[in-house]
Amino acid sequence: MTSRNQQLFEKSQQLIPGGVNSPVRAFRSVGGTPIFFKKGLGSRLWDADGKEYIDYINSWGPMILGHAHPEVVAAVQQAAANSLSFGAPTGLELEMAELINRLVPSMEQVRLVSSGTEATMSAIRVARGFTKRNKIIKFEGCYHGHADALLVKAGSGLLTFGEPSSAGVPAEVAAHTLTLDYNNTQMLKDTFASIGDEIACVILEPVVGNMNLIVPQQEFLQTLRALCTQHGTVLIFDEVMTGFRVALGGAQALYGITPDMTTLGKVIGGGLPVGAFGGRKEIMSVLAPLGPVYQAGTLSGNPVAVSAGLTTLKLVQAPGFYESLTAKTTQLVDGLKAAAQKAGVPFSAQSVGGMFGLYFSASTPTSYAEMMQADKSAFNTFFHSMLDSGIYLGPSAFEAGFVSAAHSNADIAQTVQAAEIAFATL
Ligand code: PMP
Repeated sequence: MTSRNQQLFEKSQQLIPGGVNSPVRAFRSVGGTPIFFKKGLGSRLWDADGKEYIDYINSWGPMILGHAHPEVVAAVQQAAANSLSFGAPTGLELEMAELINRLVPSMEQVRLVSSGTEATMSAIRVARGFTKRNKIIKFEGCYHGHADALLVKAGSGLLTFGEPSSAGVPAEVAAHTLTLDYNNTQMLKDTFASIGDEIACVILEPVVGNMNLIVPQQEFLQTLRALCTQHGTVLIFDEVMTGFRVALGGAQALYGITPDMTTLGKVIGGGLPVGAFGGRKEIMSVLAPLGPVYQAGTLSGNPVAVSAGLTTLKLVQAPGFYESLTAKTTQLVDGLKAAAQKAGVPFSAQSVGGMFGLYFSASTPTSYAEMMQADKSAFNTFFHSMLDSGIYLGPSAFEAGFVSAAHSNADIAQTVQAAEIAFATL
């Protein structure tokens, strides 16, 4: 019998490239039919066939309170009743800027946009405009949205001038993007020693969540901060994923490193499209209408989206929120590790705040190269067994997972039980 999910996917492929509006949703990496959802509540989701799941994607991070949180839904309804959009300033945007500035003090000035891609793309333009330099540094395996200059991966060698990793990106655009190895302090030092004064900015995920989960080494972050200061290079923390996810003040609070600029997204929209970029006032002052760097958006600071975000940010400030989220995520990771050990499967896992990484390798990877060594086919088998048991994980061995405040101890226990079955099949 063909399921409703299968029917929807077959029809979608006629009209939507690959049947999806964002590639990872297509299950290309794990195979099978993507799940089409029709409802979410708290930690749970229901698909088009009525099957129930415990959700560990949480819309790739934003749903930190779980799905359809009543206070967020009420805030959205109230804002919507006062018009969906003005294309003019509102007091809500000011409230959001004040809140972001209070919780992430390095963001002295903030501009709102509608996605993480817009935030990183704009931050880089500002950094280039401010420094009057063209070259930028990113790290292999970090994802910063799909702006041309950021769709670049590294080749081998100490210093690799970028080659686009997507068709449609001119080589000339990618040529200004240098890609280095994450957590490789020596490579960073060597690069700055040779061309430090030509580098406009360094952008990184301060905890990487786009090549599974990779944790930064403190020495790497400290060296990066010192080199950027020394060479007048703008240090951009892309906290689109980690902002309000690993700690209330983001990864910069957790690791005690202050960037010059920060990008946000995901949690600050509570599930609606909001991004932000901000940083030192001196740097942000180059933006139009004050300065020569242009950036704009018809729906930027949209009142409905900002209301969802403000209510989410109000609720995550509850005392003990991140302690509880972190403890729950640790409990999940520990339970999965114990289940794998019992089954004799080479497996490791770790978490930071409400983000976690699962690796089908005996030790936790610290770089893209190490991550690529993980057993992808074991992950795929594990993924499908978990999905059958109603546990919805990211459909790729290279995605991080997310726990929300709505996940209960019973959810975690059910997940670990499903994992025992899954590990036994490997
Ligand atoms: N930066 C990071 C660190 C991200 O994880 C993402 C999206 N996963 C982006 C930027 C791009 O955000 P968006 O998908 O909202 O454009």
